[in-house]
Amino acid sequence: MYNVKSLNADEFISDEEIRETLKYADENKNNIKLINEILGKASKKKGLNHREASVLLACDIPEKVQEMYKLANEIKQDYYGNRIVLFAPLYLSNYCVNGCVYCPYHMKNKHIARKKLTQEEIVKEVTALQDMGHKRLAIEAGEDPVNNPIEYILECIKTIYGIKHKNGAIRRVNVNIAATTVENYRKLKEAEIGTYILFQETYHKKSYEQLHPTGPKHNYNYHTEAMDRAMEGGIDDVGLGVLFGLEMYRYEFAGLLMHAEHLEAVFGVGPHTISVPRIKRADDIDPDVFDNGISDDIFAKICALIRISVPYTGMIISTRESKKVREMVLPLGVSQISGGSRTSVGGYDKPEIKEELTTEQFDVSDTRSLDEVVNWLIKLGYIPSFCTACYREGRTGDRFMALCKNMQILNCCHPNALMTLKEYLEDYAKDDTRELGMKLIEEELKKIPNEKVRQIAYNHIHDIEDGKRDFR
Ligand code: SAM
Repeated sequence: MYNVKSLNADEFISDEEIRETLKYADENKNNIKLINEILGKASKKKGLNHREASVLLACDIPEKVQEMYKLANEIKQDYYGNRIVLFAPLYLSNYCVNGCVYCPYHMKNKHIARKKLTQEEIVKEVTALQDMGHKRLAIEAGEDPVNNPIEYILECIKTIYGIKHKNGAIRRVNVNIAATTVENYRKLKEAEIGTYILFQETYHKKSYEQLHPTGPKHNYNYHTEAMDRAMEGGIDDVGLGVLFGLEMYRYEFAGLLMHAEHLEAVFGVGPHTISVPRIKRADDIDPDVFDNGISDDIFAKICALIRISVPYTGMIISTRESKKVREMVLPLGVSQISGGSRTSVGGYDKPEIKEELTTEQFDVSDTRSLDEVVNWLIKLGYIPSFCTACYREGRTGDRFMALCKNMQILNCCHPNALMTLKEYLEDYAKDDTRELGMKLIEEELKKIPNEKVRQIAYNHIHDIEDGKRDFR
């Protein structure tokens, strides 16, 4: 039975409802009248429900697909402007007791070296990331209660926030660790994490159980209900995601939106972010079974429809995606990307030599440095942003959403993005990037509508040139 407010995953992600949704979408994929009605509703920029969005996903009429892309781009401009927030993943440990059949960290894999960073190594890793210019990290770890207990994760977070770098501290640590208890979520909240991220992998329960045959992650309901426990533990910024390529994408898409609707219905606030990872080739994983599952075109359509359906939710793509694919989806609503990433444990301080036993999770498609990514974004007309102000000012959960829904995020975020870009240009950028960035800042400052805010931003930009940092 489908019940959006139920706390039982079988009811808020009801298989029956998803199947009915897919049937409805199939029956209506050429129903121009209905498609126009849904696009009309979408153009109000307040979102769509999973049934409506699924009809658009099923629709292959080229002109209608173009309309979807155009709308996604407009919504992105309205809510996020041309800012793209940058972050880096930090792999703490690849010890894992789970048996996920698509992940090289699975317990039985003897080809990879197991490694867990010591606190001294974390200082070196994070310093290497800070030397590149990063201010926002997403920490990643396998699930292993003995090697990576919650106390270890908390100690790592404390170490990271405590590192004093000449250009300032890490300002936001997001956390991507396995589903855990309300008590542990409370501890993560106390440790001042940013977003708690957990990928659902797949919403298809039967497949989920087959893809996770052993270990604590096998429990579909415990995993799917994790965000409810995180919210109960006080974390109000949670990040959803599906690992596209494991199951039928239309099923996943409907499940993902139903999950977002459930959080909104129960807690009054939807997910802070949605990640759209695609399965990648990895060590000990059968490439014939898991090989990027969905085409680039379908991927782009999914990104556009997520943007249309949940306009206030940030969208993240990682370095699993190539430069070409990133360029394709940036205008369709992506708001955060990683840059200069390594997916090996300890890979920032000491990049791995390929011939050696790897600790890497998957191959990175975008291997450019952070400066190359910043340079490329500027040339494409985006503002690379290192901003973390909302979180640090307590604008999380419903307070962030309220700002976003009123399109106020633009007034607030635009100047903040420019100031953090200016810091990057002063402290890290190569000459070419610096020159491009300075011109961009000059142009973008003029666009701040409120005169007082514009003047403050001008002043801060000058102060940053004179060596001051971290304006909020
Ligand atoms: N251990 C935590 C968990 O189980 O949720 C999270 C950390 S894991 C390092 C982060 C994510 O990597 C997983 O949630 C999964 O979606 C993704 N992943 C695993 N294998 C992958 C592969 N072969 N290609 C792309 N992404 C993969």
